[in-house]
Amino acid sequence: MTPRVIFLGGLGRSGTTLLERLLGELPGVAPLGEVVHLWERGVLAGEPCGCGRAFPDCPFWREVGERAFGGWTPALAGRVVTLRRRVDRTRRLGRAHADLPEYVEVYRTLYRAAADVAGAGSVVDSSKHASLAYCLLAGGVDPHVVQVVREPRAVAHSWAKTVERPEDGRPMTRWPPGRTAVHWTAQNLALEALARRGAQVTRVRYEDLIAAPGDTLGALADELGLPPSGLPFLRGTTAHLTSAHTASGNPMRFGVGPIELSRDDGWRLGLPRRQQSLVAALTWPLRARYGYGSAA
Ligand SMILES: [Zn+2]
Repeated sequence: MTPRVIFLGGLGRSGTTLLERLLGELPGVAPLGEVVHLWERGVLAGEPCGCGRAFPDCPFWREVGERAFGGWTPALAGRVVTLRRRVDRTRRLGRAHADLPEYVEVYRTLYRAAADVAGAGSVVDSSKHASLAYCLLAGGVDPHVVQVVREPRAVAHSWAKTVERPEDGRPMTRWPPGRTAVHWTAQNLALEALARRGAQVTRVRYEDLIAAPGDTLGALADELGLPPSGLPFLRGTTAHLTSAHTASGNPMRFGVGPIELSRDDGWRLGLPRRQQSLVAALTWPLRARYGYGSAA
C-alpha cells in the first residue's frame, strides 16, 4: 500500500523533531526520522536508531531494509548518497534530472516498506530540507509538507550554541547568527514555494505547538487527513513519549517518558543585542508574516 507521506520541513532547531515525536504518538503514524541522513549515518556509520539500538541491530529497520532492498548494503547507501549530490540540491530544487526517478524510487520503496512493517497508513520523514520535498514532488510521491517555523532569533541562538551529539560526543554544527538568518529565510521561502508547485503545505509555528500542544496537533492531524483520535499522550503541556524508530535527527529523538513542553526563550539574554538586531533585519519581512514582530 502507498502510505501518506508527511514531510516535515524547516530550518534545523525549529522543532521538527518534537513535532515528529508527537505525530508519532498518533495511531497509524510511523515516524522515520531524517531519512535523508539514514544512508550515511545509519547504514554506513551504524549510528543509533531512536530506539537506542545501533541502526544495523534495530529489528524495525532490518525488516524495512529486507523488504525494500533485500537488505541494507554499503553499495546501496553509496549509490543514494551519489544520487543525492546530483539531484537533491537546494540550488536545483527538484528540476528535471536523468537520475531523479531512480532517487525518488528509493524513497518511495523505503516509505512503503516502513509503512508495511509498522502497519501504518502514514509515515513521517523529518528530513527538513526543502530540496528533498521538491524531488519527491517532481518524482510523483506527493508529500504533505508541514512547514515548521520558529522565531528566527531563537533559532539563531540555538545554532550558535555548543551542543554535543549523543551519537558520538562530537559537537553539532555551529553557525554564526547571520548565516542562520540567511538559511532560515531561504528554507522557508523554498518551502512556501512548494505550494505553487502543487504540494499541500501546512505551516505550524513551534511557539503555538508549545503553548497549546493539543489544539495545534489536533488541527494539524485534521489538515493531514489522519483518522480522528484522542491525544491521551498529552496532559496539558506534558507529553508522554514512547520509543520511536527514528533513523537520524536531533538528540531529542531519544527521549522517552514524560517530557515537559516549555518554550526556550534563552535567546533574549543569551544572544547578544547586536546579533539579535542583525537576525531581525535579515529575516524581515518574512518573520513578520509568520507573526514574529519586533517585540515577539
Ligand atoms: Zn529502532
